Amino acid sequence: MSSAANPRDPLALELCSLSKTFKLGGGMLHKSQTLKAVNDVSLRVPRGQVMGLVGESGCGKSTLAKMLLGLTKPSSGDVLINGKAIVNANQKALARHIQPIFQDPYSSLNPRQRIAQIVGLPLRIHAIGTPKEQALKVEEMLDMVGLPKRAAQQYPGQMSGGQRQRVAIARALIMRPDLVICDEPTSALDVSVQAQILNLLLDLKDEFGLTYLFISHDLAVVEHLADRLAVMYLGRIVEEGTREQIFNAPRHPYTQALLASALTPEPGLGVPDIGLGAGQPDPTQPPSGCAFHPRCPVAKPQCSQQSPALSAIAQGATQATHQSSQARVACHFA
Ligand code: SF4
Repeated sequence: MSSAANPRDPLALELCSLSKTFKLGGGMLHKSQTLKAVNDVSLRVPRGQVMGLVGESGCGKSTLAKMLLGLTKPSSGDVLINGKAIVNANQKALARHIQPIFQDPYSSLNPRQRIAQIVGLPLRIHAIGTPKEQALKVEEMLDMVGLPKRAAQQYPGQMSGGQRQRVAIARALIMRPDLVICDEPTSALDVSVQAQILNLLLDLKDEFGLTYLFISHDLAVVEHLADRLAVMYLGRIVEEGTREQIFNAPRHPYTQALLASALTPEPGLGVPDIGLGAGQPDPTQPPSGCAFHPRCPVAKPQCSQQSPALSAIAQGATQATHQSSQARVACHFA
């Protein structure tokens, strides 16, 4: 990806019919199977916004994130950052524009390096500034994520989980990326620390003018900071809209079930079985028609035969013309 990317493009990220298919198994005795991990996903993320991406584990969220980070190649479709396609960009070039913050700060930080080395690594890789300037930037970044100066000389093992996640955030933001992929960034942390980290992410977003793609199975977390939400089921987006549209008036039965599961005593366990019949289907053998139909409490005969398109739904005469407030849903009866 070149520096010709247009920072004025109103969309920080655009996915156009993005798909990723894996071939599984195969050999002398077994036929290989096809897994459509991400299936024809189109999504537009306006600059400066937080797009929440939610769904049960195995729905394709993480594969989608890996494609954005250049860790796996799409089978088809395009990814545009600032209006420029990234298909042929190498990982190093991509890293200037997109940075990840992962779930587990324990495994994403090198335990043998001091925090100053870890946070300054992107500057060294991209040869930005002199060693002295790099050290100053690291110090400034640690301060911005709420860590004291002395943290620079510590090792990850000397820090708490919340402090380590602050280090991971400092490392991700030191290059001032356009887009940050937050992949379950608080789910390994104590509940008391989660809110601090979420608030820090929000503050830094405003400070640096960042755009987040925030991946989570936890709707309560997403509700705290997302402007818009996309709900994934078996590799497809089944509903997308503003936070208010999704939380106040979910249209898709799967979104409704996810919201119901968030209200159960153990949120995060996925869609509750009650009223939904079967569990999550084998993704290598997705159901015909609407893939949600075996679990859908309001399915009709048509649902097992025809796959519903993700279509815009009218939100009222004035709003329906605005792309940013338009909701989309993939259900024959939404
Ligand atoms: Fe349920 Fe049918 Fe809508 Fe799918 S299309 S969510 S099965 S009602």
